[in-house]
Amino acid sequence: MLKLYKKFVHSLKMQVKRRYLMLWKRETVEDGLAERQGECLGCGECCKASFVCPFLFEYRGKLLCKIHETKPEVCKTYPFCEEDMFPHAKAKCGYSFPKKSDSPKN
Ligand code: SF4
Repeated sequence: MLKLYKKFVHSLKMQVKRRYLMLWKRETVEDGLAERQGECLGCGECCKASFVCPFLFEYRGKLLCKIHETKPEVCKTYPFCEEDMFPHAKAKCGYSFPKKSDSPKN
């Protein structure tokens, strides 16, 4: 129970932070998205952060979004950097970000 509570509180804090960044630090989000590699694998873990999204549904073993085409910007931009990834979703997520040391040197 305590583990679930911690996941809820931590995820909620992260969700508030990413909304703040999207509103007031948009360039941080855009810069992060430009670095993002990989693709969504449809695990649905990011849609089960503080609460389970009501638009989530299962189809052929994948968790998909009922409003994918029109889903909110805050969903489309997940994740925009390594720190933006929910800890419980990190291992399953198909997105990744190059480590700073992986960047080509000038
Ligand atoms: S955690 Fe990553 S792979 Fe899973 S649904 Fe979210 S974006 Fe897609």
